[in-house]
Amino acid sequence: MRDTDLYARILGVERPWRVTDVDLRLSSGEVEVQVEYGPSERVRCPQCGSEARRYDSRLRRWRHLPTCQYKTILAAQVPRVECPEHGVKTLSVPWSEPGSGFTALFEAVVIDWLREASILAVARRLDLTWDEVDGVMQRAVRRGLARRKLTVPRRLGVDETSFQKRHEYVTVVADLEGGVVQHVADGHGKKALNAYYETFSDEELAHIEAVAMDMWGPYIAATLAALPAADEKIAFDKFHVAMHLGAAVDRVRREENRSLRELGDDTLKGTKHLWLYHPERVPEKSLVRFDQLVRKALKTSRAWMLKELAMEMWECRDRESARKIFTAWYSWAIRSRLDPIKRVARMIKRHLDGILNAIVAGVTNARLEGINTVIQGLKRSARGFRNRERFRNAIYFHLGGLVLYPASVTHSDS
Ligand SMILES: [Zn+2]
Repeated sequence: MRDTDLYARILGVERPWRVTDVDLRLSSGEVEVQVEYGPSERVRCPQCGSEARRYDSRLRRWRHLPTCQYKTILAAQVPRVECPEHGVKTLSVPWSEPGSGFTALFEAVVIDWLREASILAVARRLDLTWDEVDGVMQRAVRRGLARRKLTVPRRLGVDETSFQKRHEYVTVVADLEGGVVQHVADGHGKKALNAYYETFSDEELAHIEAVAMDMWGPYIAATLAALPAADEKIAFDKFHVAMHLGAAVDRVRREENRSLRELGDDTLKGTKHLWLYHPERVPEKSLVRFDQLVRKALKTSRAWMLKELAMEMWECRDRESARKIFTAWYSWAIRSRLDPIKRVARMIKRHLDGILNAIVAGVTNARLEGINTVIQGLKRSARGFRNRERFRNAIYFHLGGLVLYPASVTHSDS
């Protein structure tokens, strides 16, 4: 077999295209495969498919998967055609998508790597620039979004997440049953969530049974305006309530630690994380210390116990018993003389119906927490995102459940 035939096979180049030459450059470790469009083959307008006249051609190159360790480049004079209706158009090539400097197979490999590693790591591994890898990622997301057919979920979760240290936010809307992010919008106001609801008809929106969210005014307002009987569907999930209480415990600890240290007492020094663990997840080595701390007459340990007691509401299955637990808890919390706890207690009271909705409907926080964890991981590995657009794309890439491969790559996406 001649090497031109071999490469035609490897690259899947078929009529009307053909491999005319293979140029092995040992010194630079590259193979350049010359491909041409058969000179006597007919050409058609890529837009309407009607036969057209050849106009001229342009030299283009695509990076392909390495063959036998050699960096492999496909090069072709791509004909341009003149269509009476659409003017001068460049023929599309079967091995690559328009606008890409890579073959579809190569892009698929980059996509596979991107699932596992950061843009920087993939760029180093595959000898690409950061911008090239980023370009593959942006195209993959654009393709995925164009292909998907969005259906309204039964249960959705809405959350805000900041994409930089500065307080700039995006709103993330997820299908809680599929565990897939459906929408990423700028900001965390009413408009951000409205934009999602507006993609559906009223009839479709009526299928939504529960919307899990934080006790956040703009999301509440957007949902009340968009969904019928929304006050029965808005569900303030355990994850967010626990976060607010955890933040309150931390505030109590900070204040108490400051006053204790002024008296030369280091009891609370270095204990920040101990109070934030789920009680069953306190690390083995810290158990004894934590146990001693909890028993001390500290404001912090009182705040912590109040937080843990509040969590008992989620052991209930019906509205009335959960409400009873809340009422007892609230009267203790409000008399606790711990201002941060009292503030959260009042917030919970104002939003109690939505909390009870979540408890009764069994809206779990596992999916939201999982999605949140992945997003935090993306931020860490990217060391922050330069802009919202990149952050949005990264979320869609990793959590959007999109079909990301170029169309000509036949193996199925998972
Ligand atoms: Zn045409």
